[in-house]
Amino acid sequence: MSEERLQKVIANAGVTSRRKAEALIQSGRVKVNDKVIKELGVKVGPGDEVSVDGLPIEREKRVYFLLYKPRGVISAVTDDKGRKTVSDFFVDIPQRVYPVGRLDYDTSGLLIMTNDGQLANLLMHPRYEVDKTYIAKVGKIPDTQAQIQLRKGVYIDKRKTAHAKVSILSSDRQKDTAIVKITIHEGMNHQVKKMFEAVGSKVIKLARESFGFLDLTGLSAGQHRPLSHQEVEMLR
Ligand code: URA
Repeated sequence: MSEERLQKVIANAGVTSRRKAEALIQSGRVKVNDKVIKELGVKVGPGDEVSVDGLPIEREKRVYFLLYKPRGVISAVTDDKGRKTVSDFFVDIPQRVYPVGRLDYDTSGLLIMTNDGQLANLLMHPRYEVDKTYIAKVGKIPDTQAQIQLRKGVYIDKRKTAHAKVSILSSDRQKDTAIVKITIHEGMNHQVKKMFEAVGSKVIKLARESFGFLDLTGLSAGQHRPLSHQEVEMLR
């Protein structure tokens, strides 16, 4: 995370309002790395220790959301092509939140957004084997052999994917398309699309319907809700 103005950091930590944070600074009650800072406008980075009245502050209040990302949105904070990003759904909160992992531009579904880098790293770590379930509409119905291959693992960029759960929810023989539910616990780039590609099918539409015990119940595309304290604890 980049540098931010001291008064903003104090306000974001939930200590007080931005205006009052300025007053705290001017009255000499704020230290950065053990040095009293009285002037406004000083910027601090993530590694700087900020204290008020000698007590270190939590740098920013940690917030956690579950976003139903619509199709046609970038899973990043900014986009150099000016496309809509997941951050655009969080302009009304004071914290800057980041997506935990990515969903492709044309993929919809569940995305966790947070400013808690520690939790984000934990959830994205390969050893954190959380089930992610996707609903894919694919061209060329995967036959029994292809389904077995998907379940056992296929090679993507010379790496074999781990066991997956695969079930065909419906199929249209005439159009040669199928709706497939697939559960994986890794997070390689474009993994689901590449897995189907490896067995000769093509993903036409993709949506993530769950992440571990979390799903999109009650949300429509573009909506988000905060995660409860209990949900956050269960993710750790
Ligand atoms: N797999 C993909 O291919 N795309 C996504 O967005 C998520 C998983």
